[in-house]
Amino acid sequence: MSDLMAGREVSDSKDCPAHALKPIHEKIMTRNAHIGKGLTIRRALPSRERRMIGAWCFFDHFGPLNLKEGGLIVAPHPHIGLQTFTWTLAGEILHRDSLGSKQVIQPGAINLMTAGKGIAHSEESLPDDVLHGVQLWIALPDEARQCEPEFSHYPVLPMHEQDGLLITVLAGDLYHLHAPTKVYSPLVGLDLNALNNVATTLPLNPEFEYGIMVLSGKMSVEDETLQPGTLLYIGCGRSSIAFTMPKDARVFIIGGKPFEEEILLWWNFVARSRQEIIDASEDWENQVRFGEVVGFQGERLSAPAVPGIK
Ligand code: MN
Repeated sequence: MSDLMAGREVSDSKDCPAHALKPIHEKIMTRNAHIGKGLTIRRALPSRERRMIGAWCFFDHFGPLNLKEGGLIVAPHPHIGLQTFTWTLAGEILHRDSLGSKQVIQPGAINLMTAGKGIAHSEESLPDDVLHGVQLWIALPDEARQCEPEFSHYPVLPMHEQDGLLITVLAGDLYHLHAPTKVYSPLVGLDLNALNNVATTLPLNPEFEYGIMVLSGKMSVEDETLQPGTLLYIGCGRSSIAFTMPKDARVFIIGGKPFEEEILLWWNFVARSRQEIIDASEDWENQVRFGEVVGFQGERLSAPAVPGIK
């Protein structure tokens, strides 16, 4: 995905309340963002209230989109300093990147693109009726952010079933299960799929902060009823969480050790200084550093003007 609305300001990770050391409830309303050909998606991070949850610094929930009304086409665009993390519940997306990767993203698999010092990619929905999923970005810590770019497809992920709930471990650990996804800071990502009406409890890491987002149906957690369109931030300091979900509800949980480094996020870049953003933007416009996305039919995206730079 690409932040087509960028341009008004650089988002600074320290320009919001610090992570909550103790359990809290903070409801963050997603805002609508436009992507591809007039498609509207929900954006949960970054928000005014929270820029990050652990190293998770961007959270888009797309769909369910009826593709008969138009496909999701995101033309070639660059990234630095982050990983893109894509998980779908329905539909297919064709990913191409400047390493020559060409991969159809399907439900049940994680696609993880590590931008490191620079990569470009495109994303196109394939002709299915419905597309539903999430894309998140994970900020790379300073020691990893200049790494070589990489694309990984993980079709097999650990799963656990309890109390009618099927949990897929997308990143990090749950119980004895360890997701194969290669990440660079302590974090977790879980997909919850209610096979029946669910009432259960999951263990949490008290050192992690967490966010919970319903993707379809609903969830009741600690006297809150959540539906799509709200990210519930619950802070740090919990060792477990109890909740109920009706049959067929889907929920996405992210968590991680609070990310102490200050990051700047603008357009598709995660950086540490404005100069890095300017350099990346110029390199993209001058067609250096990022390489070409081969096979995409159409023009690549242009970098918007960096705020404050003529
Ligand atoms: Mn992208």
